[in-house]
Amino acid sequence: MKSAVTRGYRPKVYQPKQQRFSAAVRNPEHLIVTPVYDEYLVKNPEITADPKILDRVLRLLTVPPRDRRRSFSASQAGYCLRRQELAFLGAPKRPIIDPRGVRIFQNGTFVHLRWQVGLLAAKIIDGIEVTVKSADELTRSTMDGIGVAKRGHYKGAKFGWEHKGRMSFAFRAQESVGTPDEHTRKQVAMQMLHTGYDVWSVTNENKDTQEHGEFIIERDEKEIDEIRVDIKELKYAVAKKRLHPVLPECIKRNSTGEYYKCPFGTDLGSCVASGNWPRNL
Ligand code: SF4
Repeated sequence: MKSAVTRGYRPKVYQPKQQRFSAAVRNPEHLIVTPVYDEYLVKNPEITADPKILDRVLRLLTVPPRDRRRSFSASQAGYCLRRQELAFLGAPKRPIIDPRGVRIFQNGTFVHLRWQVGLLAAKIIDGIEVTVKSADELTRSTMDGIGVAKRGHYKGAKFGWEHKGRMSFAFRAQESVGTPDEHTRKQVAMQMLHTGYDVWSVTNENKDTQEHGEFIIERDEKEIDEIRVDIKELKYAVAKKRLHPVLPECIKRNSTGEYYKCPFGTDLGSCVASGNWPRNL
């Protein structure tokens, strides 16, 4: 029997929903990364990591950015399906013309490197920027880190690690609801689908205060199934050469919505110019 996705092409309008995930695990006994990392930082306040670790991490800055075309990436999971399709096709992104935006982006890169140096030195993770692809190579996940849990409830389990820098309001909101945002949950679900791992650590760092929080996400087959459905939709759209429709909020040009945040948004962006399918890609 044909699946709902393959029976006929009915593009889904992706509408982000309110928080609908169960809370992540916050029990201190279950935390994998932050208790060991905090202990390490207090004992090693200077950055005195093994030069091999520094070299390994800093080498990441010398490789050109990954070519993200022709595969759907976990880092895009949870975004508008049309946006993921335009990224897959390599549609031109709006250039960043504000140097402050570039500084914010670069700061995020260096904060990731700082965490990666610390977690490798503390032996909490043993791999960084690890990419796993699906068999057809049309989807892929790149993990900030992977390792084997050294403590507590998950001791001995393989885990993935994802780090996020958060503005104060987002940091507090996620601490209060007890889970990262929907986009991060979908990213983790796709990473779990690719790796087969059952447990993930998501660390948040408040960009203003350097406080951190850790959420442990356990594999939830319902979340993984949602990702499978999204992937089917994305692949089918590409096979049929028909983009998913523009989000209602972007049709309205909602000033606080995705239309102005999305790299393909605004009146001059690739989204509007592409219609049902970009002619030049
Ligand atoms: S502008 Fe809106 S509809 Fe278009 S790709 Fe971006 S988020 Fe999707």
